[in-house]
Amino acid sequence: MDLTAFHQALDTYLRQQMPNYTLQLMELVSIPSISSSPAHGRDMTRILENMRDIVTRYGFRARIVRTPGHPAFIATLETAADRPWVVIYNHMDVQPAQEPQWNTDPFIPVLKNEAIYGRGSTDDKGPALAIIHAINFLRTQNLPMPNIQIVYETEEEIGSPHFGAFLDEHGDALQAPASILVSDTIFEGDHPAITYQLRGMQRLEIELKTGSKDLHSGLFGGVARNPLNDLLHALSRCVSDDGQLTVPSLLEDVWPLSPEEQQELDKVAEIFSLSKFDQDSEQAARYSDDSRDILMRTWHRPTFEVHGFEGIQSTPGMIKSALPYQVKAKVTMRLVPGLEPANVVHKLQAFLRQIDPGIQVIDRGGSRPVVTALDNPFMEKAREACTFGFEREPVFVGSGGSIGALPEFQRVFPQAPIVLIAQSLMSDGYHAPNEHFRLEQARRGIKTIAHYLTSIADFRG
Ligand SMILES: [Zn+2]
Repeated sequence: MDLTAFHQALDTYLRQQMPNYTLQLMELVSIPSISSSPAHGRDMTRILENMRDIVTRYGFRARIVRTPGHPAFIATLETAADRPWVVIYNHMDVQPAQEPQWNTDPFIPVLKNEAIYGRGSTDDKGPALAIIHAINFLRTQNLPMPNIQIVYETEEEIGSPHFGAFLDEHGDALQAPASILVSDTIFEGDHPAITYQLRGMQRLEIELKTGSKDLHSGLFGGVARNPLNDLLHALSRCVSDDGQLTVPSLLEDVWPLSPEEQQELDKVAEIFSLSKFDQDSEQAARYSDDSRDILMRTWHRPTFEVHGFEGIQSTPGMIKSALPYQVKAKVTMRLVPGLEPANVVHKLQAFLRQIDPGIQVIDRGGSRPVVTALDNPFMEKAREACTFGFEREPVFVGSGGSIGALPEFQRVFPQAPIVLIAQSLMSDGYHAPNEHFRLEQARRGIKTIAHYLTSIADFRG
């Protein structure tokens, strides 16, 4: 089918199916699948049952899979035995919605100004449903597409704690995919965005013990070691006064940017809005004023953040003149490509022990950064698809945050590039009051994903 005919067929499909899409999304949004709330445990199964009903009508075989936490979901559509497999990932759980600024009930969806309002409409139910309709369009038109397996989870908003175990246990139900498609990210300003990199995260406790009881600061102060003073001293060596990690053995592991990455970064720096950034942070003080430097810091540099301490005094207004004997810092680090969690813990321990041999670094869990090379052939197909569906050339962006399931996919299917195509707009209100998804974004999303999937029908990369 040539591109004009493809476009026309899509427009016909959308004219017929958008009312259906709208009703389906409103029903999905009406199920309050808040993963962080124990009271909503049953809604995780309900939302997956609802999705199962939808995809079964469109030719999938689908089943809900128990995990030690909230359930997951696998749906399969085999199109031709010799075609490659593609895994599509979305999440069906949502953030809580208690903000007083909601104009309507977050779980009684309303259609207003050509957008559906309600928690989960843009993160991530609307984009997930758009993908289903893109597949249904290709299927009803008999157009080529890969074999497809959809994987949904209901624990994304709580950090995907059981996703790795789910893949290990049910991986045999998944065919080794040629690539993985994810739609759970947002546009960069007015520009469609393809995310090619997400930071990983390492949680740490850093402990120093110098005695076995609190001591009188008059009798012992100035001679007995103060572990809080000493730990602060050591921690301050890990980070510069402009907020950047300074541990040399870790910095030397960070991958340098390729010329293509530099180029993409420069493009986004041109359209980056500092005032929007400040609005999102409610005018928090910054370490940097330069757009390019801000993007570098959030996408490509590791962080070292101290969040709190155990073993310290924190009663407001009270100062007790005792020397502590044991303190523990709570620290996280965001990891960029080149930094592997286990190695980071090891090297940080070695660095801190040089400063103070008594310091213990305790590993509280880590996830690896996720990266898909910009010159990967699937990226070019995604670029073409966005240009077709959203009628605008996309930008390739990094992300400072993490999607917990993706490092697990990369661990289990290391050969499969992960392609993240955004359908949501910044103004949609991800994790915010009055979250909504515009029907126009859904239409364009369906077009984009249909174009992408048919262009990789026989594509093994
Ligand atoms: Zn999401």
